[in-house]
Amino acid sequence: MCGIVGYTGSRQAYPVILKGLKRLEYRGYDSSGVALLKDGELNVYKKKGKVAELEESMIGNNIDAQIGIGHTRWATHGEPSDRNAHPHSSASGKLAMIHNGIIENYALIKQDLINKGYEFKSDTDTEVLLNFIEDIQQNNNSTLEEAVRIALKRVTGAYCILLIEQDNPDTIIAARKGSPLVIGIGKGEHFLASDASPIIEYTKEVVYVNDYELAIVKPDELILKNLGNEKITPYITKLDMELAAIEKGGYDHFMIKEIFEQPSTIFDCLRGRLDAKEGVIRMSGVDKHIDQLINANRIMILACGTSWHAGLIAEYIIEELCRIPVEVEYASEFRYRNPIVNKGDVIIAISQSGETADTLVALEKAKENGAFIFGVVNAVGSSIARISNAGAYTHAGPEIGVASTKAFTGQLAVLMMVALDIAKHKGTISDERYKSLLLELEEVPEKVNAILKNAEDIKKIAEKYKDASDFLFLGRGYNFPVALEGALKLKEISYIHAEGYPAAEMKHGPIALVDENLPVVFIATKDMYHEKIVSNMQEIKARKGKIISIVTEGDTVSPGLSNDFFAIPPADELIAPILTVIPLQLLSYYVGTAKGIDVDKPRNLAKSVTVE
Ligand code: GLU
Repeated sequence: MCGIVGYTGSRQAYPVILKGLKRLEYRGYDSSGVALLKDGELNVYKKKGKVAELEESMIGNNIDAQIGIGHTRWATHGEPSDRNAHPHSSASGKLAMIHNGIIENYALIKQDLINKGYEFKSDTDTEVLLNFIEDIQQNNNSTLEEAVRIALKRVTGAYCILLIEQDNPDTIIAARKGSPLVIGIGKGEHFLASDASPIIEYTKEVVYVNDYELAIVKPDELILKNLGNEKITPYITKLDMELAAIEKGGYDHFMIKEIFEQPSTIFDCLRGRLDAKEGVIRMSGVDKHIDQLINANRIMILACGTSWHAGLIAEYIIEELCRIPVEVEYASEFRYRNPIVNKGDVIIAISQSGETADTLVALEKAKENGAFIFGVVNAVGSSIARISNAGAYTHAGPEIGVASTKAFTGQLAVLMMVALDIAKHKGTISDERYKSLLLELEEVPEKVNAILKNAEDIKKIAEKYKDASDFLFLGRGYNFPVALEGALKLKEISYIHAEGYPAAEMKHGPIALVDENLPVVFIATKDMYHEKIVSNMQEIKARKGKIISIVTEGDTVSPGLSNDFFAIPPADELIAPILTVIPLQLLSYYVGTAKGIDVDKPRNLAKSVTVE
């Protein structure tokens, strides 16, 4: 979390940084700030709240500078406040630094510095690292670059840091471990940021900095080194992203724009890979490693949040189609226990940002034990994509709304294709079933489009139930993880308490919650469990719960049991989750906006969780 931006060149730095921070706000919006350097004067401005509040507070300030750094924070150490906002200034006032990550051993270092007489202006781990660097610089009489290198060898945790120095008119020192950093290469200028979105309108040539690398960035020069002070040749890649993809394009929020993009993002995900007419799936990440995949002893899926729900659906699909045992784990749990991972195990890592800290560390651990890593990632060139042995991008384009929507359906489309491709090679699927699923998958973008055409119906349902204090989401089989996802989305975006449950489990506890005030959302599309879920609906109705159901067009039974219902086009039960989740995304969006919540920046959350 936290978004960082830096600029050095001949333009005015502040507008570049401000615009960049707005693009990175999905990463955190507790506070923001900038440090600008001109003619030996280092000015730091910061403000609690969103970037717009910083912008407002900057009116009248001296913003004339060609070098600067900026930060938008998701607080880990110290409450969101002006004084904990970044950039931080060092004790002497000569250095300014921004940081994304957590310095785990900050308490010990802080105590040492306090013993030496240092005083701290904030509660952050960041200020500790900054003063530690300055202390080393002063004691050793060394350059900033050397001091940074020495300090970083002694800290544990994760960081991407950018520093500027009063006496160094054009240089930014940057380093990373565990938190992302991209450097954009312009003509006589360089741009630094947490992702490419602040850079894209200036240049498409970028360098992704790796862990344990340090960059010395001047307008005309980019030097990369490792922490052992050896030079590394920067590997320049071309960005494949358009500016329009990161702007709202007429929608009120990124979230609704991204929900409505799904017909085309799913289409893009399938394009070039799925050929239903020919009956083939072409995924180079699968095909090149097919022996490894079909001979897997088991598959472990590691993910967090919404991606974990995609993993649960994939578990059902892979076991059904490929007959390989699958386990799904929260990456955050996996990394701290002593899991059994052997050679021959395949790990599927699912992450929108490709930077999720817990997933990344879990993967490193699994890789050490000889597992084969297959990444399902949205952000091209991200850390998880780079450490995977193979993988497939979801191609959903930049997802900026904090609540994941289009990345989730992209993950489902990719995982479905991976399962079908493995099953085909393994011979665990009949030709007929394979072909019919391919045809069904090909029809998904059109069906999503049909669902979105009726979005107004969901809006009406949302307005009716927006004041409920709790919601229950129930589903069976492939739609059980969709119930979990529906509940998570509603919690994130509307702050209404919601629980997802397997419909049949309801009688083992949650049914006690049901009364005439509780809306219960049933995902009750036609599948092999349909009669069972109809019985569960009867049970809720008998207890006067308010039933909202997602049903298959043409179903005459479930709508009759429901207070409100929304019909979606018929689909094979394996494909259904990509469709049933769409009305639930819309429901949470419309409830959130009806309650006046800033759905793109819900409280306490941030996207791309690069801290533990
Ligand atoms: N640990 C720093 C702070 O609390 C940075 C947080 C982050 O990257 O999320 O300010």
